Amino acid sequence: MKNKSGGIENLIRRMLKKHSSPLMLIQEDVLERQFRAFRKALPEVTPYYAIKANPYPGIIKKFIELGAGFDVASANEMNVVLELGASHDKIIFANTIKSHEDMRSACKKKVKLMTFDNESELYKIAKACPGAKVIIRIKVANIGSIVELSLKFGADPEQSISLLKKARSLGLKPMGVSFHVGSQCTNSENYLQALEVSSVIFNEAKQSGIFLNILDIGGGFPIKHFDADNHLTFERMASQIRKKLQRLFDKNVKFIAEPGRFFAGPAGILVTQVIGRAFRNNKNYYYLNDGLYGDFSGIVFDHCKYEFKTLKRGQRFLSTLAGPTCDSFDTISLSEDLSELDVGNVVYVKNIGAYSCASAVPNFNGFKPAKIVMC
Ligand SMILES: *Cc1c(COP(=O)(O)O)cnc(C)c1O
Repeated sequence: MKNKSGGIENLIRRMLKKHSSPLMLIQEDVLERQFRAFRKALPEVTPYYAIKANPYPGIIKKFIELGAGFDVASANEMNVVLELGASHDKIIFANTIKSHEDMRSACKKKVKLMTFDNESELYKIAKACPGAKVIIRIKVANIGSIVELSLKFGADPEQSISLLKKARSLGLKPMGVSFHVGSQCTNSENYLQALEVSSVIFNEAKQSGIFLNILDIGGGFPIKHFDADNHLTFERMASQIRKKLQRLFDKNVKFIAEPGRFFAGPAGILVTQVIGRAFRNNKNYYYLNDGLYGDFSGIVFDHCKYEFKTLKRGQRFLSTLAGPTCDSFDTISLSEDLSELDVGNVVYVKNIGAYSCASAVPNFNGFKPAKIVMC
């Protein structure tokens, strides 16, 4: 334990000699560790990395090398993974609402596996990409997940047979079922119920002469954000999922998943420095060189809470952390227990590789997000 945090602190000191902050360190060995943990816990499931979590090219390259597929949501994301060397048949266009232009370019690049959740989209797909392989995304419970996705996506399971028949009648190839239990899902019931519902659809489809053979269990797999988080449910969750997959689905069904956070989150360490301090409202205010418009954007968009650490030790005081921009909204945390910091001191956060730099604004107020360094 103590070596571990010492290791990270040494790494931070070393990297700060070579690069200036803010710095997003991406630990390549952790990307690999996460990939292997996933493969070990769910050996029958092929992971398609959801690049929206972190589309940094070095990360995508690493996952190509490890043999992952990719989940993309736009033609731009698709082009990024193709240009880095991903194979067209290991890409799923997993946005249920796609523009005509994006689907045309997917079709031209032979990326023909895509999701949908409504009838209007089927007509669009049939026109833009005749003969595409389609997967119906169903609406499932997102109970207890930090980021709720069922409010915006998913067909009612009861409609899925008629939608799959519609797909067939439009000349598309109905291939399977997908769902997303919500991001940072710590409630395995969401997956287990979704699997039950999916298996009913597989069986009913078969009775209508539609033979589905892809089950896409989506993303949502949770990670630790705080050292003291001990839910660490991934392995337990995965073993429950695995048992159900084996029990409910035929041998010929191909399983895929779309992990984003689980693959990229633990690999990222954000290193910032204090650029100014003040005493206000009876508290120390520390202004960091990264904020909500930058790599802490996950506080807004990902509803994420982070554990802030310093290299400096000493008595802790209630403190506020703020970003560098002239917007008071750019306040990172109003109450952190931190040792007293001076200008130049480091504040860092672990497990921040997903939904951080990915959603940072390039240059608000002239402040750029962290430089990304693979290490
Ligand atoms: C965001 C997203 C993912 C990745 O979700 P995580 O919770 O990061 O694993 C996977 N699939 C779809 C369709 C998504 O929108």
